[in-house]
Amino acid sequence: MSFFNSIGRSMSRNPRGPKRSPTPTSTTFPDMPPPPVPASPSSPAPSKPLYLCSPFVEAALVKGNFKTIVVLPKYVDIMEWVAVNVFDFYTNLNEFYGVISECCTQQSCPTMAAGTNLNYTWINQDRKSVNLAAPTYIDYVMTWVQNLLDDENVFPTKSGHDFPQTFPSTIKHVYRQLLRVFAHIYHAHYPQILHLRSEPHFNSLFAHFLAFGREYELLDIKDVKGAANAPVGIGMLWDRWREMGILEG
Ligand SMILES: [Zn+2]
Repeated sequence: MSFFNSIGRSMSRNPRGPKRSPTPTSTTFPDMPPPPVPASPSSPAPSKPLYLCSPFVEAALVKGNFKTIVVLPKYVDIMEWVAVNVFDFYTNLNEFYGVISECCTQQSCPTMAAGTNLNYTWINQDRKSVNLAAPTYIDYVMTWVQNLLDDENVFPTKSGHDFPQTFPSTIKHVYRQLLRVFAHIYHAHYPQILHLRSEPHFNSLFAHFLAFGREYELLDIKDVKGAANAPVGIGMLWDRWREMGILEG
């Protein structure tokens, strides 16, 4: 069953676990800012990224294919399942970013780089595409997602409250933005992930995120791979993991 055709079937869900505050600076963006778009070229091409090299590319907590852990469990409502999983992806990613955030500064990351030729830009309230430093961009994303998660009208937690008609499209926006945060961390901060010896955990989180996103049509391939002249770094990871059987097509 398609997630996008399933609205109206929602039911109550257990309240989610404790919520972590997003990074501190505040934003005044509307509830649903339009997604940023890739923009201008950035730094010159380095050698093969570490995350594509052995043994890091194979490092994982979860061995085997992720298909089995993303399928909808019996008797579970699809809205509930997607909501709970997105909450978990957000929470885990926020934790990871919290750990490496001292290395992600206005100086180290003046743009939201995610590939040797790719910087994401943010659409501001005047509908203008603007370059933001990565920590600012990520703060906007995480604050926006946290506010959605806290909004009972978007993520209902009380019995008798239904998911809104817009839930699938909202989730797709969220997913695309979280993908960009993953893409920046892989591109710019993988050495810190390695330093923490967290690459098995981080790879498994990301592979799970990709598998889930494909299963429920929350991810477009073009967002994972980017444009031909501005590829997303993690697009190659996606290809490698498919070759290795970790992900399906
Ligand atoms: Zn950074």
